[in-house]
Amino acid sequence: MSSTQVLLARNEQFIKSFDQAKLPVIPKLRAVILACVDARVDPSHIFGLELGDSVVIRNNGGRVTPSSLDEIIALAMLVAMMDGDSPGPFNLVLVQHTKCGAERFADPHLQSMLRERAGVDVSATAIHDHHEALREDVNRLRDDPRVPSFITVSALLYDIDSGGIEEVVAPVAVEHLRLSR
Ligand SMILES: [Zn+2]
Repeated sequence: MSSTQVLLARNEQFIKSFDQAKLPVIPKLRAVILACVDARVDPSHIFGLELGDSVVIRNNGGRVTPSSLDEIIALAMLVAMMDGDSPGPFNLVLVQHTKCGAERFADPHLQSMLRERAGVDVSATAIHDHHEALREDVNRLRDDPRVPSFITVSALLYDIDSGGIEEVVAPVAVEHLRLSR
């Protein structure tokens, strides 16, 4: 059985009890989670998300990269337009995890091999130290003038072995980060 067949069979089970057609497009938690693609750290599972709770963006490492910045900025602008005169919060939650494949991208030999053979630059994704990388990502948001000041950002580290979460950066408004620079 192919992966697609497995997924289609599971969807057949899903639709049997489906009653969520009326969900609002703005997520209930008003959250955007940026997490790693690793199958072991699916935010729906580790945070017990229900359908419609949160937007989830996933990339290698769960890093703030040029492409994820574009996604976040576009979403923030879209939500602000939808909110209109009564703006609500926009909570961006960065999630990295221990034993992440992006730690391998920190190897300069692998970086140059990927650049030469595949034309891929993983330097913005590489993780040497998770605490450092999470703070660096918060700073990438602070330093990009396109990122709206009303966004609140926090940074979490998920432990693959225990299933637990460490709050590395507590929720803070981008505006506050810029004022206290
Ligand atoms: Zn990972």
